[in-house]
Amino acid sequence: MKQFLAVAFAMLTFCNGTATSFSPSSSLEKPEETFTIETDKIFDKLVQIRRKLHQYPELAGNEKQTQETIKQYLLELGLEVKTDIYGYGLVGILRGAKAGKSIAWRADMDALPQDFPDNVEFRSKTPGVRHGCGHDVHLTIALGIAEVLVKQKQSLQGTVYFIFQPAEETFVGAKGMVNNKLFSLINPSEIYGLHITPALLGQIIVKANEMYAYQKGVKIEFTNSMPKEAVKPLVTKFRTSLTRTTNNGKPWEIQRILDPNEGMLSPNSIFKDYFIVDDMTFLSRSDGDKLVVYMDVYETDRAKLPNIIPALKKVIEGEGLADKLVSVTFFKENPTIDNDPNLTNNAVAMLNNLYGKGTVSLMVGQVPFSNDDFSYFQQKVPGVYFFLGGSNFEKGVIASIHAPNFMVDEESIRIGVKSFSTLLYKRLSDK
Ligand SMILES: [Zn+2]
Repeated sequence: MKQFLAVAFAMLTFCNGTATSFSPSSSLEKPEETFTIETDKIFDKLVQIRRKLHQYPELAGNEKQTQETIKQYLLELGLEVKTDIYGYGLVGILRGAKAGKSIAWRADMDALPQDFPDNVEFRSKTPGVRHGCGHDVHLTIALGIAEVLVKQKQSLQGTVYFIFQPAEETFVGAKGMVNNKLFSLINPSEIYGLHITPALLGQIIVKANEMYAYQKGVKIEFTNSMPKEAVKPLVTKFRTSLTRTTNNGKPWEIQRILDPNEGMLSPNSIFKDYFIVDDMTFLSRSDGDKLVVYMDVYETDRAKLPNIIPALKKVIEGEGLADKLVSVTFFKENPTIDNDPNLTNNAVAMLNNLYGKGTVSLMVGQVPFSNDDFSYFQQKVPGVYFFLGGSNFEKGVIASIHAPNFMVDEESIRIGVKSFSTLLYKRLSDK
């Protein structure tokens, strides 16, 4: 996931469980307590595996050693493993002793081409490659969930598929697995996953339907008669004339994502209805007899997507450049995360009920400048994608993904494993 924001959200309420007894063949009476205890037992081991993954990061499409590490861990747990579904993608299959439905959990595997020095003892041993998006933490959480669920196999009703997906950063891994017959090998009726975010440690954040804005890559072709120096003013004009916000006419400031009154979690969020032009990252280059401009735009409202190209053309005409224009098209139309409303509501209610009110925060806005190809799985299987906070501001740990100073508080692994193992277990147990 591409994101550069340092974001803090409201406090998470933590809730500690106590010991419980259970019959091995009947459903756990208090799974939240059992999974809290079982997660604590393996936490140190999980931290070690996370650090190993962090030391040996691999770029999208090259996750060979990562696949081997995951495979060995799953085999030791007794799971059936299918490898090379797309690239180095793999699936671990945990079959409960009791019949039931099937659910999938997804973790992404790849690291980033980055050379920022990590301020940790377990820094990357591969020059130029770094787990700067937290996928090492995602992998570890998935392994932890598998391990604590394996211990409840006798009472587990149904099957859990653990999907380890390569090449998320290049947005090809999920699509590749789907096109490579993933869902003929496995048949989940629900799918879940998460991404570490800069929110406060352990805070779980979710929203029904779109979590991110729709990101569209726009390609504008001009004839060679278009002066290159006219591009920047034109892109600025796109921004000033087409930006739509609910921001009382003030400039759209990403820093306000933190604002308790107008930020991402506020009912009055300024991030729930907008169209923005990214005028910082546009590119222009000569291509044969054309001058081509590439830029990204973000729209929260699916219904307004067809308006984008006509609106851009109108601005170009208004600037007197119509005779130089060849075409305006989308070169990138990645789908966005689209959480199933019923499954989302169910998960929120369940986690808040079992772990305490406020465990999960509902997001109101849609995140700009980011996306995740988990959306390709959701096109086939209804599911929910969560954010999990990884920042600990007191310790100076800011989980601002892709940023030079990105770090994750490893306690987020504990929260992730216990919360989502409980969720998966309950989804299989509940009728
Ligand atoms: Zn990511």
